Amino acid sequence: MNKRDFLKASGAIIAGGMWTTAPADSTVPRTNWAGNYQYRAPHLYTPSTLEEVQKIVAGSKSIKALGTRHSFNSIADSSDTQISLEHFQQFGHLVIDEKARTVTVGAGVRYGQMAPELQKRGFALHNLASLPHISVAGARSTATHGSGNKNGNLATAVSGFEFVSAKGDLASLSRARDGDRFLGAVVDLGALGIVTRVTLDIQPTFDVAQTVYENLPLTALENHLDEIFGAGYSVSLFTDWQNHRATQVWIKRRVGPGSDPSPLGPEFFGARAATVNLHPLAGHSAENCTEQLGVPGPWYERLPHFRMDFTPSSGAELQTEYFVPRDKAYQAILAVERLRDRITPHLFITEFRTIDADGLWMSPCYRRPSLAIHFTWKPEWPEVKKVLPAIEAELAPFDAKPHWAKLFTMTPARLQGLYPKLKDYKQLMASYDPGSKFRNEFLASHLYA
Ligand SMILES: Cc1cc2nc3c(=O)[nH]c(=O)nc-3n(C[C@H](O)[C@H](O)[C@H](O)COP(=O)(O)OP(=O)(O)OC[C@H]3O[C@@H](n4cnc5c(N)ncnc54)[C@H](O)[C@@H]3O)c2cc1C
Repeated sequence: MNKRDFLKASGAIIAGGMWTTAPADSTVPRTNWAGNYQYRAPHLYTPSTLEEVQKIVAGSKSIKALGTRHSFNSIADSSDTQISLEHFQQFGHLVIDEKARTVTVGAGVRYGQMAPELQKRGFALHNLASLPHISVAGARSTATHGSGNKNGNLATAVSGFEFVSAKGDLASLSRARDGDRFLGAVVDLGALGIVTRVTLDIQPTFDVAQTVYENLPLTALENHLDEIFGAGYSVSLFTDWQNHRATQVWIKRRVGPGSDPSPLGPEFFGARAATVNLHPLAGHSAENCTEQLGVPGPWYERLPHFRMDFTPSSGAELQTEYFVPRDKAYQAILAVERLRDRITPHLFITEFRTIDADGLWMSPCYRRPSLAIHFTWKPEWPEVKKVLPAIEAELAPFDAKPHWAKLFTMTPARLQGLYPKLKDYKQLMASYDPGSKFRNEFLASHLYA
């Protein structure tokens, strides 16, 4: 899909003429980005000022923020009202504090909009997800991640944020001031309030060169997993689970000061360097992907796999992802591989990435350096739904945690048992939202059932 088609598709809401504080026309179907989930909330507000946000929150029975709609499940839905900050007044105001090394942005801003502005001022974020299209607030809320042994998920870059709480008051939390309350509230799954501004850590800008290899034998991971994922600042492996090999290895290395030391050659643990740019999905145009072949470029044009003005991934697809402890990563991969002939027919591609441990209570990487095993599925939910319990059973011995924003079938009891700070999180959310205004059906069924 080209840029025009992409904007047309992702602008379905705009076409509905909903950029006002008046509720949306409930007859217009609204879906998530992938189109696999239709929101049930009868009302959608798109305020442009803080006062409007406060009024809408105070006057709603039940409300949930809607980011850029890139989640695959009902996490952003509401039985009553959704509120999108896409037209929020602070959207365009990017405030850089050079001394504190932070940037503050309106919560609706997308990484792909903020990044070039940071670059112009000589700054960078520590990491990005596979796509720059998502909102900063949405990524914070679900612990969205990129890759890199030493890179925490994107929520770990949040050093503070402002939000409108249940009564419509403006509140804030900061890493420096609020200790545990902050650690419990960053990955909030949308339960805390409507976040209006986010402050993120920044660092001096850097360049990245991306090299892709093809056909890495998975046996190489048995004894060299740390070296393979440590071969660059951010490393991703893709597989279709057939022939015990990674179809592609994407190595993103920092260039210049602080860069990765030894040069990359034509061969990498048995894989061969690609000679043209590639898309991770067979048959898809590499035009949608960030530049490869070792050509250096700014961090924000290499750390994501997909370019801002093009369709990321496939488009019509489903996604699932599980986080396992990094020191058991190879065994976990072998466990899933046993299901390869049930998985591959419904799969576009699987991706393995590493994420550093963090201290955020509801992060899947809480105190656990992790490997994420991701599945981009064909839009075949009835079949995928049958495979997920089998994958979850294979990964159960590894205490695999599902990505909050993707599809899973794990029971609430099992999910809740994976989060040691869940009780504290619930208490914290209740202290800000005693009437459960921000608790939607997703949270009620998965965390409170
Ligand atoms: C093609 C594709 C590629 C992806 N790649 C990755 C990847 O590389 N890594 C990864 O981890 N994930 C990935 N995802 C998943 C995606 O990053 C998450 O779903 C992310 O949360 C989406 O953010 P969003 O802005 O679309 O939020 P939404 O999906 O709209 O909402 C997600 C949650 O954030 C909350 N939220 C949003 N805005 C606010 C706000 N202002 N205040 C309070 N709460 C808010 C919502 O209420 C909801 O609970 C991908 C998804 C797609 C479609």
